[in-house]
Amino acid sequence: MGAELKLGVKWNGKEFELDNLSENDTVIMLKDAIYKQTGVRPERQKLLNLKLKGKIPEDDMQLSSLSLRPGFKVMMMGSLEEDIADANKRPEDLPEIIDDFDIEDGEEVALECKDVYLAKIDKRIRDYNIKMLSQPRPGKKLLVLDIDYTLFDHRSTAQTGAELMRPYLHEFLASAYKDYDIVIWSATSMKWIEEKMKLLGVSSHQGYRILFYLDCLAMISVHTPKYGVVQVKPLGVIWGKFSQYTPANTIMFDDIRRNFLMNPNNGLRISAFRHAHTNRATDRELLRLAKYLKVIANVDDFGTLNHRHWEQVVKERKERKRQHQQRDGTGGDGAGTT
Ligand code: MG
Repeated sequence: MGAELKLGVKWNGKEFELDNLSENDTVIMLKDAIYKQTGVRPERQKLLNLKLKGKIPEDDMQLSSLSLRPGFKVMMMGSLEEDIADANKRPEDLPEIIDDFDIEDGEEVALECKDVYLAKIDKRIRDYNIKMLSQPRPGKKLLVLDIDYTLFDHRSTAQTGAELMRPYLHEFLASAYKDYDIVIWSATSMKWIEEKMKLLGVSSHQGYRILFYLDCLAMISVHTPKYGVVQVKPLGVIWGKFSQYTPANTIMFDDIRRNFLMNPNNGLRISAFRHAHTNRATDRELLRLAKYLKVIANVDDFGTLNHRHWEQVVKERKERKRQHQQRDGTGGDGAGTT
């Protein structure tokens, strides 16, 4: 028997302790222990931060060779068999698996001005520490992005993070960066956000820089008559810390409308990116959203916009462009055919 090894596993935003492991145990025994806690079969598990000289350790490798510190938390990506069975069903018999419920359209009741929430936001402005990854640039607007199901399908299984990345993610961020400073705000923990952004190559990309990350601790809970207490992402936390960002120049993308309950006019609900393996080939949402950001980049006050109509705006721009090209005879679809 080797020395006892206390490890934990993080999966789907939940943490589990792993018992009865020793240094002499192998990677496959670790996977079995994870299976007992999570129900994810060993062959479905992808252990993100378990590395030996930069490589994924073989199943028969001893845990002692990985020099894990006590209390180390393995980050695991993997799906349950029943989730996979669901994902393989045809779309029409697919039940909508939503752990994060959403509110109905138009239910963003006027919470913005309630004193009790303003006090909570003030507390975040004072107490929440932001680690800057780059500096605000003069004259830029602000784009705030959610991660799960917005940029990344966090539920499907995959060998690499890239397989779960929403298509055109880097193109989208590079394009948005020209006019906007970019903040990532996820309802998970900072460690997990950093891990994911590294995995997707966002933190090291040459074409853009992220301003900072915000995690669940920057969120506040609010009470809604219909749903009780819910967690939301109040943009007031950012506006309070950085005077150059205001309701007039900030836009937030999230697949859950509830998250911008405090700032309904600054939110754009993006379609959720799920089932990466089947939808990777066809999902062009980020390309279209990049166009929208481009179109509104010159609008002085976002308060004059209704982001619900973003798709219409993109369509109209495309049509105008086509007409210009036709008139100028500069080519493009349909040019010269009339
Ligand atoms: Mg999300």
